[in-house]
Amino acid sequence: MNVQAPGLEQARELLIKFYGYPDFREGQKKIVESLLRGSDTLGIMPTGGGKSICYQIPALLHDGLTLVVSPLISLMKDQVDALTAMGIQAAFINSTLSGREVNDRIRRAQRGDLKLLYVAPERLELDWFREEMSQLPISCVAVDEAHCVSQWGHDFRTSYLAVAPFVDSLPQRPILAAFTATATPQVMDDIVRLLRLREPGTFVTGLGRDNLAFHVLRGEDKKAYIMNYVRERAGEAGIIYAATRKDVDDLYQRLRDAGLAAGRYHAGMSDDERAESQEAFLYDDIQVVVATNAFGMGIDKSNVRYVLHYNMPKNMEAYVQEAGRAGRDGDPSQCILLFGPQDIVTQKFLIEQNPQDEERKRNDYRKLQQMVDYCYTTRCLRSAQLDYFGEAHDDTPCGNCSSCTDERELVDMTVDAQKIFSCIHRMRERFGATMVAAVLKGSRNKKVLQYGFDSLPTYGVMGNRTEKEIVEIINVLISEGYLSLSEGQYPVVRLQQLAAEVLKGQRQVMQRIVRHATAVSGGAGGRRSRDAYPSAVNETVFEQLRLIRRDLAAKEHVPSYIIFNDATLREMSVANPQSEADMLRIKGVGEVKFRKYGKPFLDFFLNQTGDPVPVYDDDF
Ligand code: ADP
Ligand code: ZN
Repeated sequence: MNVQAPGLEQARELLIKFYGYPDFREGQKKIVESLLRGSDTLGIMPTGGGKSICYQIPALLHDGLTLVVSPLISLMKDQVDALTAMGIQAAFINSTLSGREVNDRIRRAQRGDLKLLYVAPERLELDWFREEMSQLPISCVAVDEAHCVSQWGHDFRTSYLAVAPFVDSLPQRPILAAFTATATPQVMDDIVRLLRLREPGTFVTGLGRDNLAFHVLRGEDKKAYIMNYVRERAGEAGIIYAATRKDVDDLYQRLRDAGLAAGRYHAGMSDDERAESQEAFLYDDIQVVVATNAFGMGIDKSNVRYVLHYNMPKNMEAYVQEAGRAGRDGDPSQCILLFGPQDIVTQKFLIEQNPQDEERKRNDYRKLQQMVDYCYTTRCLRSAQLDYFGEAHDDTPCGNCSSCTDERELVDMTVDAQKIFSCIHRMRERFGATMVAAVLKGSRNKKVLQYGFDSLPTYGVMGNRTEKEIVEIINVLISEGYLSLSEGQYPVVRLQQLAAEVLKGQRQVMQRIVRHATAVSGGAGGRRSRDAYPSAVNETVFEQLRLIRRDLAAKEHVPSYIIFNDATLREMSVANPQSEADMLRIKGVGEVKFRKYGKPFLDFFLNQTGDPVPVYDDDF
């Protein structure tokens, strides 16, 4: 090689010019460098971590074209709209286009008028498309949502298996880049193997985005909580996930009846209805969407301030991905999971309903159990997430999650724990939590009597508690590793080494059992996150800027985040820009965007009466 590869400095210049961001995030730097060196690259980043920039900037620096494999039509369109708004030559090819439009775009690519071309994976299986692509100078193939190639992921798509043969069919092998938010070792192995990445540089970026406050709430009146929360957060965008269509419809109706600007989204609605909900949300016409997990992949709305889970999702991967749709702009946001024991029943039902082989079923049950453990843990939730995804971290608690901010007293539960362990032992570790609880409670239920458990010395020794309470305690003991649960539909509780130590009196068990009367209320949360904004944010100005953006979005027919995101408007409201140069200094204002959308915002500031406050000393 005698040509000097483009470096990070050049990449940064483009980042400033087009995107208006002063620098790459830590995780982005390494990935961009790796791609600029020409290495195959696997980038693992949380939703909102900034994956797209990682291949978009190298695409501008490499000769020829970068082909982006992307799973969803709406996602492609959003990305291409955003790129076009910034002045970057990009297009997509998918089934929404006529044959003629497809040809036009291929011609554009042939003329060298495109730097990025987005395509759906299905297209790579078509002979004529492969033929056309082999005529183009493709320097890089970037595979978005790469976990779709793995059966172990949560969105397996057969057509992703077509990527590797497609790449092999090209006359010259391009650089291969793969991106995902899912970092379980199984999935990562599959990505490397099935996409045939060659000695890829692998970069995992922190899953825990510091701006997200994770909460798990158990035992809430879920509906009342949600109504209250959304009401107190009026004016802020949020998503509420529910497990079933019925729950979605029900919550949606309640919110509407309460006069709140809500929309809904699930697979039972028509394509048009769904597109309408999604648009209304993107354009800020509605504040909150109640949805099943069908809603999401492809929602690049950056100012989502909260994601509430009305039900526990099926596994941690799904949870982290859905919750991660909050706060993509980096502003403080809340992710609240409302857990109830019924959620476990629902998820088991869904696993049983889904026809699949035994191995995958076992895998699903194992992941479900890990999700349940998360809901019961008293540890820092962020640490728990990092552990789950196998990410190294120090043991400093985040200080921001519901465990870290839990003000309830720790209660010594050693005696209760001993009763439970002893009972499990006497029942020969062959029953589930409900049965153990029934025996401890002293229930006369048929099964208890049939097995003769009423003659055990532990029968009725926890008669002062309800069976539900006992099950709760058992669940916490499971999540903390004193007990284990076997896999399958009817899991059995077994004793672990830690439990033996407790029985021998060598170890104490501390739990937070009583629920605090003032768990995170929507209001308190709201105030807390507000405090984290720079104090100088002028809320009135910010609101006015949002209105300008809304009008402009309607006029230009683009979602508002494509114009400027909330973080950018907020910075503007503080900076009080008085010139183009001032504007360009604001994060998220690039040159092209300023030319396209900047004027009404600058005019607003120039027309403000009163003394303009000099913000940057070096202007004078
Ligand atoms: P992902 O695809 O990983 O979910 P995106 O690529 O959509 O995330 O980026 C999420 C948000 O972060 C977007 O609003 C994007 O503009 C912003 N962003 C990305 N990189 C940077 C950066 N270096 N500086 C500031 N904001 C950034
Ligand atoms: Zn924490």
